[in-house]
Amino acid sequence: MEREQILRALRDGNDRYVAERGAELVGGVPGVVPAHQPVAVVIGCSDARVPVEQVFDQPPGSLFIVRVAGHVLEPAALASILYAIRELEVRLVIVMGHQSCGAVCAAMSGTDDPALRPLVAPIVDRLARVGDDGICEDAAVRANARAAVVEVVAYLRRVAPELASQVDVCGAVKSLDTGEVEWLD
Ligand SMILES: [Zn+2]
Repeated sequence: MEREQILRALRDGNDRYVAERGAELVGGVPGVVPAHQPVAVVIGCSDARVPVEQVFDQPPGSLFIVRVAGHVLEPAALASILYAIRELEVRLVIVMGHQSCGAVCAAMSGTDDPALRPLVAPIVDRLARVGDDGICEDAAVRANARAAVVEVVAYLRRVAPELASQVDVCGAVKSLDTGEVEWLD
């Protein structure tokens, strides 16, 4: 699609969104900005095939979402999680990887593009911790999600030890084939 077509589709889509779902956004009271009270943080991949609210069939306002390719937890991503826990009183954090993750595949391919290093190196490190020799793609996706769970827990214990024990952090992987989310132990 050309740029103008894309922008027109987005403008039209926003018009429909406001017309059809505007009340959902403002809690039915026009002009009143709803309180920000998400029930969970979801740390997901930027992959366009993993739209978090749709995957869990949740309305706007319910999920605090941090999306970075390969759900790499750079400092601002971690601080965003902390914000939701401290300021919004969220107590559930979900790391959601997905089938056929391009970031995981890039890490497995051994790419040495320096521009991609901030994205790929953390995933390479995560996979190395579980032993990445001969690991298949699905197992690598799971390992990447599990490693991110460990990173979030360690981060919270370090920066907010008084809150860390109150926060449940769990991992999940979304299938692109079926849409189903598998919850990791
Ligand atoms: Zn991905």
